[in-house]
Amino acid sequence: MSDELFRIDGVLWSINKVSKVAIAYCPADRVALRCDFPSMTYSVKCDECSRLYEFERTFQDERIFVVNKVIARDLAGYEVIDFDGAAIPLAEGTAKDEKHFVVVKLMNTKVGKRLVVYVGEQGENQKVQIFIEPDIKRLAFDQKDQHPSAVFLALEATFSDGTKHKISKSDI
Ligand SMILES: [Zn+2]
Repeated sequence: MSDELFRIDGVLWSINKVSKVAIAYCPADRVALRCDFPSMTYSVKCDECSRLYEFERTFQDERIFVVNKVIARDLAGYEVIDFDGAAIPLAEGTAKDEKHFVVVKLMNTKVGKRLVVYVGEQGENQKVQIFIEPDIKRLAFDQKDQHPSAVFLALEATFSDGTKHKISKSDI
């Protein structure tokens, strides 16, 4: 048994994270709560003080839930090593005025850093998605979204070596 108790859903729990076993205790006297049919029981009575403890789920599901909840707290601090290739932003920012919104995400991709800029009108589903990739000196936009000319007259990126990329209405 671990030497810490967790208060979750009105009772105290000791959790064995390895065997994933949770034991519930009455908060008043710390006597373990038990019941004969945990998969069918939503409330458990303390054998010592007769207090009744009710749960949103069956006692069996509650025991699984609290183990997962305590493990989730540990996992919250873990670094995610991504095997899916789904990009997780290194940095993120948003801005908006009365009419437009801008969301900027800095991602790490196979071709290096990528700045993704989403621009659109507030309240509209459509948006422009622009990619700026300094490592390969590329300015591009997502063809699945609106053409940048829906929002901009022209877009130009100047990279550190002086390379310029421009997207304007004529590219439609
Ligand atoms: Zn009790």
